[in-house]
Amino acid sequence: MTRKRKIVLGCGGFFLITFITLFFLWKSAITKNRQIPVGPFKIAENLYYVGTTNVTSFLLTDPEGHVLIDGAYPATAVTIIESIEKLGFNIEDVKIILNSHAHADHAGGLATLKEASGAELWVSKADADIIEAGGRGEPTLGPLRFGQSLGIATFPPVKVDRRFDDGQKVRVGEIELTAHITAGHTPGCTSWSFPVKDGDRELLAVSIGSLTISPFVSFVEPETYPGIREDFESSFERLKSLPADIFLASHTDWFNMQGKLRQYNSSNPVISFIDPSGYLKFIEREEEDFKWVLQEQENEKSSESEE
Ligand SMILES: [Zn+2]
Repeated sequence: MTRKRKIVLGCGGFFLITFITLFFLWKSAITKNRQIPVGPFKIAENLYYVGTTNVTSFLLTDPEGHVLIDGAYPATAVTIIESIEKLGFNIEDVKIILNSHAHADHAGGLATLKEASGAELWVSKADADIIEAGGRGEPTLGPLRFGQSLGIATFPPVKVDRRFDDGQKVRVGEIELTAHITAGHTPGCTSWSFPVKDGDRELLAVSIGSLTISPFVSFVEPETYPGIREDFESSFERLKSLPADIFLASHTDWFNMQGKLRQYNSSNPVISFIDPSGYLKFIEREEEDFKWVLQEQENEKSSESEE
């Protein structure tokens, strides 16, 4: 090997290591930043926010027991438990834990939360095995799947007590949620709708699981998983058809939680969260992104076949 070649290889190795180190530092900074607690605070009569600045967790309460949606990152479980306690509720009164989808930033804390509460964990059929495998086998992760043996994009595995299909009802006391399988982001990504009381009226809250397109997915043959394209298409239609009053989601920036908190009025908290037009605009924006990616992939595919 020539001296010049050795230097080039040496420099290449140095830059690669630096790049990987910077990548992991950047990832861990984002993860930490997303775990900063906010609140907790009341959204509506029996609906509370118990999540962090970026990754959400919602608590629905009832004298007969509570329902918790999402477990955020592994390290965030403690924050969620503290938030529940700050509100004057007991983690042991959480009877059912739900999940938006089988990614580490929403399912990471489920194992700790399940153990602390003794609650049942309900997950969609298509995401249940992934949750029980601590995130392994999730098809949209692309090359990240190779890093899962090193613990990248994994989380503590947790036993699923109930596997459900689209339309499943979840009931505890007066609480009633409906599962909408809005798949594509993961094979069993779930959005939740539930009525909440506001004085004499009833409002429909919808928490969107995710409509984000992983950079590794393919909507053209070979598809990332069979039917991913139809899954996305029907997810947009399904969500647009829900008459949402209160717009929620698994990440706070999607429903502009910080902006809504600036107008927060503790004597009437729900008012700043009523946002049917923001809800629709968000879905339409995500749908535009999907159509653009699909078009790009189709163009690429047809130019490949012409060659
Ligand atoms: Zn995700």
